[in-house]
Amino acid sequence: MIKVVKFGGSSLADAEQFRKVRTIIESDPSRAYVVPSAPGRRYPGDTKVTDLLIEAYERAARQADITDVMGRIRERYNNIAEELGLTTDLEEDLRSIAESLQAEPSRDYAASRGEYLNGRLLAEYLGYGFVDPYDVIMFREDGTADMEETERLMDARLTGMSAAVIPGFYGRGADGNVRTFSRGGSDVTGSIVAAAIGADVYENWTDVSGFMAADPGVVDDPVGIHTITYSELRELSYMGASVLHEDAIFPIRSRGIPINIRNTNRPDDEGSWIVESTARRSEYTITGIAGSKGFCAVLITKAMMNSEVGFCRKVLQVFEECGIPIEHMPTGIDTLTVVVDEAAFLAREQQIISGIHRVVDPDTIEIEAGLGLIAVVGRDIRYRNDTAARIFDSLADEDINIRMIDQGSSQLNVIIAVDEGDFEKATRCIYKAFVG
Ligand code: ASP
Repeated sequence: MIKVVKFGGSSLADAEQFRKVRTIIESDPSRAYVVPSAPGRRYPGDTKVTDLLIEAYERAARQADITDVMGRIRERYNNIAEELGLTTDLEEDLRSIAESLQAEPSRDYAASRGEYLNGRLLAEYLGYGFVDPYDVIMFREDGTADMEETERLMDARLTGMSAAVIPGFYGRGADGNVRTFSRGGSDVTGSIVAAAIGADVYENWTDVSGFMAADPGVVDDPVGIHTITYSELRELSYMGASVLHEDAIFPIRSRGIPINIRNTNRPDDEGSWIVESTARRSEYTITGIAGSKGFCAVLITKAMMNSEVGFCRKVLQVFEECGIPIEHMPTGIDTLTVVVDEAAFLAREQQIISGIHRVVDPDTIEIEAGLGLIAVVGRDIRYRNDTAARIFDSLADEDINIRMIDQGSSQLNVIIAVDEGDFEKATRCIYKAFVG
């Protein structure tokens, strides 16, 4: 059994967190390859080291002084090293980072140094080898990982290394420069390492015990999710549930490696399992509910629309040309509804309306603003005949008007739109209908 274990920024924010991490790693010999983030927030209002580094880059780019901010970064690492009695000397590295930022500021390079420096300290603290992802994780031009090349390099580098620390978040770009993933991207590194070495499990350690069935900011003390499939997770994270970087499942999805989300501060909790597929039924029919506000619907009506070949394509092209992504598109016989992000839409609203008139000459175009979308997600939904009824009954009981219904073609979810003002109440009553 080999595990890749990734620890997020809050799990490595200070010496006390480092100690917890070492205890976790030492309690299971299969935790052989460790992917750290940069030190995160120690308390609310604290600044992540990555943000300090980006600030250093921004200052350097406008030729402002970076002594102060580099001093704050040095202090974060020195505190950890001194408290843990580590001897790794980061002075040389810190000097060369400052010099390089002043000579030739690069945002990716600056941002990546948080993980690099933290990885150096963690490797010494664990007594593990250090592998610089610049040597083993290769990016393609488009910013995605070149898995074939990465696997080859990783294989060669890790041969004979039974344990290693491989910092998260960055690698080498096609142009030979340091390149990072988008923010939170150490999750992606963990997944790439797990795929490249063929790990049995990818453990992702953070500050919550996995996924919850609803947003705890909306529903009081929601139940945890024990097992969720990759596809269910995609649906839930698309609608705003965020624990894991949304690209983190792609490298391992085709290899069926499970991800176990764990809590560094409550290591005995089993956390959530993200798997390719499972025979485990969800206890509550649904796996989870997620949603967000800030959508609007563009309702286009035209008599005999259904027989007009190319109608949808022409309408969608108008949105495409204005750079507005489509979120959902329920259709009727003579109506087509396009649901989009309201803020993005507002910036191009009149251009889109006149564009639609020009290309399809509709009878009417109406806009419904201020919508909240709620996705009720569950792999068991397709086997049950009462899911929709339970959702609609619970909303009717609370006198909440449903503005739109869309059963996803994946048959994994039912999406409903309500007025933004009803969003929280609707989420709570759907949750209650299923979980109780
Ligand atoms: N340190 C990076 C960030 O703050 C990457 C990560 O933590 O995953 O976004």
